[in-house]
Amino acid sequence: MPERGLIERYRDRLNLEPDDPIVSLQEGTTPLIPSPHLSNRVGAEVFLKFEGANPTGSFKDRGMTVAVSRAKGRGVQAVICASTGNTAASCAAYAARAGLRGAVIVPEGKIAIGKLAQALIHGARVVALKGNFDDALRIVRELSQKHPIELVNSVNPYRIEGQKTGAFELIDELGKAPDALAIPVGNAGNVTAYWRGFQEMGASPILYGFQAAGAAPLVTGKPVEKPETIASAIRIGNPARWEEAMSAVTTSRGRIAAVTDAQIIDAYHYLASCVGVFCEPASAASVAGLLAHGLPTVEGDPKPETVVAVLTGHGLKDPDTALGKAPAVISCENDLSAVERAVFSD
Ligand SMILES: *Cc1c(COP(=O)(O)O)cnc(C)c1O
Repeated sequence: MPERGLIERYRDRLNLEPDDPIVSLQEGTTPLIPSPHLSNRVGAEVFLKFEGANPTGSFKDRGMTVAVSRAKGRGVQAVICASTGNTAASCAAYAARAGLRGAVIVPEGKIAIGKLAQALIHGARVVALKGNFDDALRIVRELSQKHPIELVNSVNPYRIEGQKTGAFELIDELGKAPDALAIPVGNAGNVTAYWRGFQEMGASPILYGFQAAGAAPLVTGKPVEKPETIASAIRIGNPARWEEAMSAVTTSRGRIAAVTDAQIIDAYHYLASCVGVFCEPASAASVAGLLAHGLPTVEGDPKPETVVAVLTGHGLKDPDTALGKAPAVISCENDLSAVERAVFSD
């Protein structure tokens, strides 16, 4: 069988120990989808890196395979994370795969239903905190200091190591780095990871990071006490990788900008209905950002010609938002002409 998991493909570029076992669900190798329609609108050749095609439906699997492999190698019995949903789903799946116990702390009532279902069915202990993501992260950091339990949030360096492979794949597939990368930014681990991956390959694409307007601390320059956005995966007020992300974006001659929930939902609907790609709302922030802000460059720099927008998670994670946005189902009598009318009338 061909070796497909990230660790098998990139182990020499990851910092795992030689004896660490490989805990893998064959993550990575996600589709890089060209979009002529979107390219026209943006004025550059745009590709969509569809991370929703990972085993648990988000890019978090790239980091989790490495973090859980290292945790298992160290001999811990349990892993824990704070999560807006996707880290919880991924942590739960990889814990199950590794035979470790998993615990996830999520903000009560604030996580998409698909992610909750995943965390529960994989057998993790799911704790709904009466607080937000930033509160949950503070608590799991303390817990992991007090107990022999591995913290697998993106503050864990092995998460970033795994996630940098997204950049490796882009270079492998395009034959070179894109001129620019558009990416949603929440806790700012992924933008940090892509930059590390590009730098290790000698590449420096322009980074365009996008935050939701109601949760945009990197745009306003100060933490947001009560972050609010429909894009629950990036509803984060105090990103753990703040300095690194800002330094990456600045060095790349890019910028972090905000997109409103309305712009996010427009892009989300557009991607599904005109491009054929169903991602979750937070993921659509990358495309919303390109549509709202274009491709700004530092004066004198050339305009980017190839752009990759990272679509971080699958649309099925959050069916409630899809059903709220889409047209209603058409109820119909069991009769040919009634069906005919239902199908063909406008
Ligand atoms: C985690 C996540 C993000 C944000 O990534 P960070 O590394 O926290 O910046 C964006 N979109 C989705 C779908 C996510 O799950």
